[in-house]
Amino acid sequence: ALKGKTAIVTGSNSGIGLGIARSFAAAGLDVVLNSFTDRDEDHALAKEIAAETRTKTRYIKADLSNGDEARALVEQAGACDVLVNNAGIQHVAGIDEFPAAKWDAIIAINLSSAFHTTAAALPMMRKAGWGRVINIASAHGLTASPFKSAYVAAKHGVVGMTKVVALETAEEPITANAICPGYVMTPLVESQIPDTMEKYGMDRETAIREVLLQRQPSKEFATTDQLGGTALFLCTDHAAQITGTTISVDGGWTAL
Ligand code: NAD
Repeated sequence: ALKGKTAIVTGSNSGIGLGIARSFAAAGLDVVLNSFTDRDEDHALAKEIAAETRTKTRYIKADLSNGDEARALVEQAGACDVLVNNAGIQHVAGIDEFPAAKWDAIIAINLSSAFHTTAAALPMMRKAGWGRVINIASAHGLTASPFKSAYVAAKHGVVGMTKVVALETAEEPITANAICPGYVMTPLVESQIPDTMEKYGMDRETAIREVLLQRQPSKEFATTDQLGGTALFLCTDHAAQITGTTISVDGGWTAL
């Protein structure tokens, strides 16, 4: 039933977004991949997935720090049955030292872009008579850590906005939910390992277990494939009555 439906996945030339895009295309959805770059390799990645899955998967550039570009992404896609708001950035600093420009960028990309894409996509979903809004929040949408003020604020905001979208579409065949990952092995996380090893004088295994996965009781990273599977489940009929809530994929983080 998902075959031929169109999914827009923001921030999907890497990491979790790419994992979700691959899972969706494998299930027959035509996926719109997105990031702020417009390189040959971005389009080649979409072509490769399209060929592998025989879908009309393609790449559309949009810098989601800009609200007009976020809305234009949805307009340019032309259809949006499933919207996955995944694009996100991080910056770590004490609140008294937090650069104001970083605060603004994190709120714009991690929170406001989801407002703009959702506003543009809902009329399309209503016209099509079906829709799914899936926001990639974080364990930091439910709990806090020091030095991540902008990120925690944005992710809590995403969880709040998800609930509002669910209420505004409650009597329609549209659902809105947030997925809250703990640590997921992505290039973003992989790149933190060498620094962490050096900072604490630890070997790779110890740095992963004691520092990165300190708050993840399973002591294992979630995978982008598992996030893809969770997002795909939310698109099925089994999930039709799941709306306005969060699904944690965090190895027990939020149970602590
Ligand atoms: P990533 O850096 O691999 O992917 C982020 C994506 O967003 C990339 O495709 C990047 O190009 C895109 N992006 C960044 N700025 C953009 C902009 N201005 N316009 C358009 N696209 C932009 O990181 P990831 O780990 O895959 O993170 C994806 C999402 O999952 C983020 O929202 C992140 O907060 C969330 N998340 C990640 C983890 C984790 O452990 N990796 C945990 C919880 C939540």
